[in-house]
Amino acid sequence: MTARNPLIDGFGRRIDYVRLSVTDRCDLRCRYCMGENMVFAPRRALLTIDEMLVLGRALVARGVRRIRLTGGEPLVRRGVLDLVRGLDGLRGEGLEEVTLTTNGTQLGGMAESLFAGGVRRINVSLDSRDPARFAEITRGGDLAKVLAGIEAAREAGMAIKINMVPLAGINDDEIADMLVWCGAGGMDLSLIEAMPLGEIEDDRYARHLSLGVVKEALAARFTLIPTLYRTGGPARYFEVAETGRRLGFITPLTENFCAGCNRIRIAATGTVYGCLGHDQKVELREVLRSEGGAGIDAALDRLLAGKPLRHDFDIAAKAPAVARHMSVTGG
Ligand code: SAM
Ligand code: SF4
Repeated sequence: MTARNPLIDGFGRRIDYVRLSVTDRCDLRCRYCMGENMVFAPRRALLTIDEMLVLGRALVARGVRRIRLTGGEPLVRRGVLDLVRGLDGLRGEGLEEVTLTTNGTQLGGMAESLFAGGVRRINVSLDSRDPARFAEITRGGDLAKVLAGIEAAREAGMAIKINMVPLAGINDDEIADMLVWCGAGGMDLSLIEAMPLGEIEDDRYARHLSLGVVKEALAARFTLIPTLYRTGGPARYFEVAETGRRLGFITPLTENFCAGCNRIRIAATGTVYGCLGHDQKVELREVLRSEGGAGIDAALDRLLAGKPLRHDFDIAAKAPAVARHMSVTGG
């Protein structure tokens, strides 16, 4: 289905992918993502599920084909299943896929309902398979719960990709094992470079690990075959001959893929960001509340006219590129 008025930015990039954060809250506190004492948006500031659906319909009318729900932790937002089902109803209007990025803690009880609601692919974040280390990274998370959630998703029939953020001296000794474990479980793995977003207590500079170096180390042990596979994101994928699964690298700091950017990011408050690494934004909540769907188009066009060419992440700067944490936009 071709949109009459597609979303095209000032550099001619076609936007057909949206990340929608359904809440900035989370039941974990990963050290590279959040500070210890996070202040979250007041609940009244969040878009309602119905408002998110109005927005979803407006985006699909402008040619958005994929929506990824994220957060914070999307599965702690009340009503998220209604949102999934409602968005799934937009398939007839051009939406191809609703996906989800989750920390997995709630999947045990929700995987079946998510599958029934139309979710076929999920990303689950897992930075360590050692219970004590997992608890340390997440400030108290229960690894067993996440592993049970992954199992439930597999049993429900979802394709699963594991997201891992390799951190120097924290979990870099687990990367190869994670690859083997994912392969044995029929899951793909993506490695994500930690990005400088929001103030945290940990030293991002000290934890920074170039994924180029990681790739070389993995290539010495596994046969990595380059592929043209894309999921609409910035990951570059290899097929791992030994496991038959894919390995993705998301390398915003060491390799820049902004030229092919196809996305915008919506915070749970209705703020829409043109770029993960910039503050350029428009506010949709009041537009939605006062004008309904009608005002959305003009606001989106304003956003796209100013969408930055690329992010300016610089790990050596030792200061966050933007003040907001990843949990606001969900990556
Ligand atoms: N809570 C869900 C989860 O953890 O999957 C969804 C939101 S989380 C912000 C989305 C992804 O961003 C996760 O894979 C997480 O590891 C990653 N992430 C969080 N902070 C990051 C940072 N500063 N740099 C790179 N990735 C980050
Ligand atoms: Fe929560 Fe995901 Fe951030 Fe971890 S990475 S604190 S699970 S939002």
